[in-house]
Amino acid sequence: MILDTEFGKFALHIMHQRDPNGHGHSEVTVHPLPCARSERPCCTPNQLVGVAKCHERDQFCRAVGRKLAFERAVTLLDNETRAALWKAFLLRFPPRKSNGTK
Ligand SMILES: [Zn+2]
Repeated sequence: MILDTEFGKFALHIMHQRDPNGHGHSEVTVHPLPCARSERPCCTPNQLVGVAKCHERDQFCRAVGRKLAFERAVTLLDNETRAALWKAFLLRFPPRKSNGTK
């Protein structure tokens, strides 16, 4: 998947895994294009990786895992790049309205 931002195009790789106990785990990788390899993981240098592990009592939710892992992946970027990536990410994955308002 590609995030198109004002700072260029970034690759966004999302992986959801379930361990044998049924616990969910999401991993997000972000890096400027291009990918070093077409295989996944692409092993591109200087990639940003964020991981979100679901608590064992929580129900695994891909949307939550994806968002949390993404947040962790981009947390060390400068504000402008991070904001641009968030904007592109939220366009791809529009947040669901769950606060009661319609
Ligand atoms: Zn890649």
